Amino acid sequence: MKEISEVVKLTLTNLSHHNIEATPENYEKEFFSIVEKNNIHFKEIDEFHKLINNLSYNDKKSLNSVSYREISKLLSSRVKNEDLKYFLKHLSYFMLPSLSSQIKDEINIICTELSNSPENLINVNIIRKLRKITNMRINEDKKIFNEKNSDLKKLMSFLSTFLKNRIEKNIITLDEVDNIKHEINSLKLVTSSDEDLRKLYEKFSLVVEEFSDVVNKNNEEIIKSKKESDRLYSQIEKLKHSLSMAQEEKSIDFLTKTLTRRAYNDVVEKIEKEYKAFDSTYALVFIDIDHFKKINDTYGHDCGDSVLATFGSILKKITRDEDIIARFGGEEFICLIHYKNLSDIKNYLIRMKNIIENNKFLYKDIKLSIKFSAGAALRENYESYEETLKSADILLYNAKELGRNKIILDNDEVIQ
Ligand code: GH3
Ligand code: MG
Ligand code: MG
Repeated sequence: MKEISEVVKLTLTNLSHHNIEATPENYEKEFFSIVEKNNIHFKEIDEFHKLINNLSYNDKKSLNSVSYREISKLLSSRVKNEDLKYFLKHLSYFMLPSLSSQIKDEINIICTELSNSPENLINVNIIRKLRKITNMRINEDKKIFNEKNSDLKKLMSFLSTFLKNRIEKNIITLDEVDNIKHEINSLKLVTSSDEDLRKLYEKFSLVVEEFSDVVNKNNEEIIKSKKESDRLYSQIEKLKHSLSMAQEEKSIDFLTKTLTRRAYNDVVEKIEKEYKAFDSTYALVFIDIDHFKKINDTYGHDCGDSVLATFGSILKKITRDEDIIARFGGEEFICLIHYKNLSDIKNYLIRMKNIIENNKFLYKDIKLSIKFSAGAALRENYESYEETLKSADILLYNAKELGRNKIILDNDEVIQ
């Protein structure tokens, strides 16, 4: 007989054979007598014997018989009210929300109630209450978690915009730092926020404070550098002015304020191009002051200078801006005059002669009358500028030869 089912079958047959009722006690007795008689070994039975051996002496003594029923009675009697009380004492700890402290009171009430009547632990209403509190606890924790999460989000989004701004801009003004301070102060973390998060927030506020100090210092530096750069700027402006003065000196004759010969040559190049392109004809008037050496010799070089300056200013006054007056050298001048009709040129030359003749050249208390000779050649009568200039020069020479104080035109007309 090896199968437990065979023993069960024999037990029930024996009980029926002897007309014994198959109560749990009778069944157990018969079952074990068959097992013992036949020296049968089942794993379950061995474990049951092991359990009995492990019972304390007092436990064994308290058993009426060594049976499953007796053992189960013994074991179930072990969960006592004290044990329940002990468990309930810790119940509040299991139930308190990990994050929120809102439902503390409800938990305390039910725990006190249970510790007074531990048997109620299995009461349906109490179980319902416990479930309700547990749900509340979960919801409270969720709520707190979400709040904290939103604080974290606030901080992170603030940090990211802050960093983005810093990366995009190299310069930050004091107003901007004040704005950052204001923003961080208005973040207002929820009161339940985690200690660590608060610390992070405080640290960040500190960083912004320090940042503000750095910006302050930088601004001071910037103001200093600004002063220095203003100083350098004004120096540069002065240098620019002197440079333009120097350039002007190169192109404007210091004494007569007319163009220098070099500047005149540059302008002539441009005018020659225009003449070729647009047929904008012009006349060259070569002028030389008569007996100028005598003025120097008689009244001194300074007087000669003064005469030259006045002569130059008169020429400039009677000449339009689009025409050119230049000092060709010593007491010689050249005028380049645009015209439409020959009469324009003649009128210009007559006017020049009259004004110079009628003007009293003053130097200190000396009044001088100045005369000049000139030759005038029209560009349209020559192949090139050079030939026109040569002709004007020859005509001037002729004017001198013919007794000075006259202007000779290249059509042989003489203004005197
Ligand atoms: P002419 O009627 O033949 O032209 O006689 P001129 O005396 O005017 O001519 P000349 O060439 O003999 O003398 C010109 C003088 O002009 C000689 C020179 O010392 C003088 N001169 C040249 N440049 C200047 C200057 O910038 N200032 C002064 N004061 N004199 C100058
Ligand atoms: Mg001369
Ligand atoms: Mg002269």
